[in-house]
Amino acid sequence: MPVPIEKISNEMTLTHRVELFLKREDLLHPYISGNKLRKLKYNLIRAKEEGKDTLLTFGGAYSNHIFAVAAAGKEYGFYTIGIIRGEAYQPLNPTLQFAVDQGMHLHYLSREKYRTKYSPEVLHELQKLFGNFYLVPEGGTNMLALPGCAEIWEDLQETYDFICTPVGTGGTLAGLVSQASKGSKILGFPVLKGGEYLLTEIEDLLRKDGTDPVQMQSQWQLIADYHFGGYAKFNQELIDFINQFKKEYNIPLDPIYTGKMMYGIFDLMSQGFFQPGSKILALHTGGLQGIAGFNQRFGALVR
Ligand SMILES: *Cc1c(COP(=O)(O)O)cnc(C)c1O
Repeated sequence: MPVPIEKISNEMTLTHRVELFLKREDLLHPYISGNKLRKLKYNLIRAKEEGKDTLLTFGGAYSNHIFAVAAAGKEYGFYTIGIIRGEAYQPLNPTLQFAVDQGMHLHYLSREKYRTKYSPEVLHELQKLFGNFYLVPEGGTNMLALPGCAEIWEDLQETYDFICTPVGTGGTLAGLVSQASKGSKILGFPVLKGGEYLLTEIEDLLRKDGTDPVQMQSQWQLIADYHFGGYAKFNQELIDFINQFKKEYNIPLDPIYTGKMMYGIFDLMSQGFFQPGSKILALHTGGLQGIAGFNQRFGALVR
């Protein structure tokens, strides 16, 4: 899909003699942001094939995925049900307000119950409440997410030594690895603390997709040092980086995913991680809808 690939150059890239590019997946769609559209594509096709008229999915109250599914339902003619972790608050935060405005029905589960959301009991209960829905897992990651994300390769006219992506569930990374071309190494930047489980999770996804994870081992790597304390955790340095990046390149980054990845790329660069002459492509996976809710919670930090 035709989105711009923008070159990012500054003192640092010049000093270390690397070329850095940012693929603006955030511009794929005004609401179905970046990798969420990639992951939904084949799920929407499958839901239609199965004759389903309702999508049901799960997420936190600020979830990019909930936001995207609500918009996708409206655009492609599905009823949507969002199962939200935790209690209901009024007024709705900007993410959930948008979802409701798109026609999504919200249903809240306590945190305890949310933990067992895929158990037969809870699923049975949801089926009794909402009928015969098409289930999209939390974050949109399932086997049909992989071929959608793998299509990112089709857009690339050049070879990059490194492809960088933020990592939540690992679906986007697994999709990229599943079709990885030999010359490129894929770097994933987990945004959660304790992301060690991601290794097995991603290997499982690859195996189920028919890719031998052992053969692909040298093609990807998780860089675990840039989660800033955990999911939606941050410090002033990250916020300053995001605001400075916007000022310099007129490209907004979100504080949950893309900001952490870009910060990580520059930090690795400063340590000489990338050989001189390297070509790096970072994926701007979107998530910009989350800035409004983030600022509301933590006080207008991201400009
Ligand atoms: C959901 C999301 C991710 C994480 O993608 P996974 O496939 O779950 O690893 C990365 N970036 C943004 C902006 C997201 O919204």
